[in-house]
Amino acid sequence: MTAPPSPAPAAAEPLRLEFADGLVVCHIFGANGPIPELVPDTLAIAMRTVMKELGPPPAPATLSIHLQPPTPFYKRAKALFHAQALAAQEHDDIRLHPGQDPLKLAFRLGHELSHWITYKQHPARPPLWLDEGLANIMGAAAAEAAARPLKQTVERPLPDKLPGHLYSLEALLHLDAYPRKPAQVGAFYWQAEALVGALRQKLGREAFNDYLAALSVPQPPLWEAPLRERWYFNDADFRWLAEHIRPANRQPSTPPL
Ligand SMILES: [Zn+2]
Repeated sequence: MTAPPSPAPAAAEPLRLEFADGLVVCHIFGANGPIPELVPDTLAIAMRTVMKELGPPPAPATLSIHLQPPTPFYKRAKALFHAQALAAQEHDDIRLHPGQDPLKLAFRLGHELSHWITYKQHPARPPLWLDEGLANIMGAAAAEAAARPLKQTVERPLPDKLPGHLYSLEALLHLDAYPRKPAQVGAFYWQAEALVGALRQKLGREAFNDYLAALSVPQPPLWEAPLRERWYFNDADFRWLAEHIRPANRQPSTPPL
């Protein structure tokens, strides 16, 4: 006697989580297996951190998080400082490799959630330096929040070969595609984060978010125009900002949030 053919196993249901009283629904899809417990716990920390800083999406929104198998070593080594190597956001989908380290996972989730919430609030997207600099700050803040209960500290060494690959302020502001060389990628992220951190320090959270909105339009003004017109920045303020993209003048650290 033969057993009746067993039905093909159904695709695993995603894990459903709600945030901000149901305004944000997240579906987590596993990578060929159960979803590591680390992921929903760390996602909750990163979501809370990023929404506290940037505010919620303007309308109910659903985000899908697709866990990916590990990136091959050679790709990882080539793009050590490139957050995109291990995670990416497109529309309402985030793909990422969760790994085993809660601080690195919190950084990746915070970084990608920053892109996602910015995209929901401002579909036209900010300029590259502003989008990536802010995403790195949110990643660092999420990593700090994940580190506190674990009594760990977030280590953020300077990128390799930074001094030889620094962008001028003008070049940084006008980059509209990701650099290719790893050392340039490292410098770009470090400098974008430093500039956005200095701007947030000077403007404060609320005014910074207004500035982000002003630049996230299809035809954005020059970066300095709203700063001069709405917040009365003068030449000394711009010199102060420019100093922050040089490592001699600023040790990379998480700016006060
Ligand atoms: Zn990014």
